[in-house]
Amino acid sequence: MSTVMCGAMSIVLFSAWRSFPAEIGGLREWGMGLLLMVAGTVLLALRGGTVPRPLPVLSMNAVLLWGIGLSLIGTEKFYGLRPSWRLFHGIWLVGMAAIAWWLLVWPDFPVRVAVFSTLVSVIYWRQVWLIARHGERQFPTLLFGMLMLAQALVVATRGVLALFAGGTSVDLLRPGTFQNVYLAISSFMVLMLVVGFLTVATRRLQTILELRSTRDPLTQVLNRRGFADVYARERALMQRERRAISLISIDLDHFKSINDRYGHATGDRVLVHVAEVIGKVLRASDHVARFGGEEFVVLLPDTGMERACSVAERIQDVLREPRQDGLPACTASIGVACQLSAEEDLDGILLRADGALYRAKALGRDRIEVAEPASLPPRAALG
Ligand code: GH3
Ligand code: MG
Ligand code: MG
Repeated sequence: MSTVMCGAMSIVLFSAWRSFPAEIGGLREWGMGLLLMVAGTVLLALRGGTVPRPLPVLSMNAVLLWGIGLSLIGTEKFYGLRPSWRLFHGIWLVGMAAIAWWLLVWPDFPVRVAVFSTLVSVIYWRQVWLIARHGERQFPTLLFGMLMLAQALVVATRGVLALFAGGTSVDLLRPGTFQNVYLAISSFMVLMLVVGFLTVATRRLQTILELRSTRDPLTQVLNRRGFADVYARERALMQRERRAISLISIDLDHFKSINDRYGHATGDRVLVHVAEVIGKVLRASDHVARFGGEEFVVLLPDTGMERACSVAERIQDVLREPRQDGLPACTASIGVACQLSAEEDLDGILLRADGALYRAKALGRDRIEVAEPASLPPRAALG
């Protein structure tokens, strides 16, 4: 039963590995680990008889240790850590030497089980620690961590029982209460652990897809859709707290000639640099977006026209600073609009900021122009 379960789960993991984005690491290792566990349980069945045959016992332990170790490598890759292959190989070598000793030289089944269980539980304890340290603070992490902790405890219990309650009590091929409970729990745990891992992987997938749909892939600042979401939130806040918000529309000057002269790749680097420069000038509560091409928009919550203009000036100053990395300098034309009423929407304030921006272009570029206040019904204005 547990073999079938592992096999089915490894198919699920492999198909997730094929279809999830490459940033979600570890799925392949978890899938391969489970496949090895399937091989291990088949070898366990081959062991048979009262006198164990050394080859199946040795190969079963080797394959199982390998498979369980791969889950550790998978979890490390999932959290973006360097896989600890040294620990993996160390546990495998020590484990195999110990099992060979207590199987061939000094046959002692309880000690063998105790050593094997201790090594396996080290692998699970390390994963508990990794999840606690590197996991996102979300429910799927808690679930995954608790399941891993339960698995570490189950395996450690088997090791302790082997030492203190004797070998037959933990020999999984003999009928008995502990054997039945252990086999039921361990096959259930395999299923639950994979579910736990898939839950954190799916949560990660959701975060990645959300980011992809709201971020500009080149500069990593918000895209139009992400900006619209942020604006809607800030506008709702403004309505409640009766504050002003400002919007800055930025268009790089003669950007086409930068592309023509230095190439598209350098143009891209300039765009990334501009996004960084704008980000550095802003407060944590401000938002920047790229609206396609060489156009950026900044949203300044709780900000009136005066501060918005000084932010725009600061952006221009930083853009003008001489550059050390060989990137061509560029200038920007800027339009600033301030919104005092929640009656106005994103299209309205953008239209006003863009109007001011076009004026800045028409008046010679590399300058800031301020938009007229919105013409709204008097009841809509603040104060
Ligand atoms: P102006 O001062 O009037 O704004 O002139 P401009 O050349 O900046 O404006 P125009 O709209 O004529 O050209 C915009 C250029 O931006 C054209 C296009 O090649 C370039 N561009 C748009 N998107 C990208 C991009 O993602 N990467 C790069 N490198 N260039 C881009
Ligand atoms: Mg331009
Ligand atoms: Mg443009």
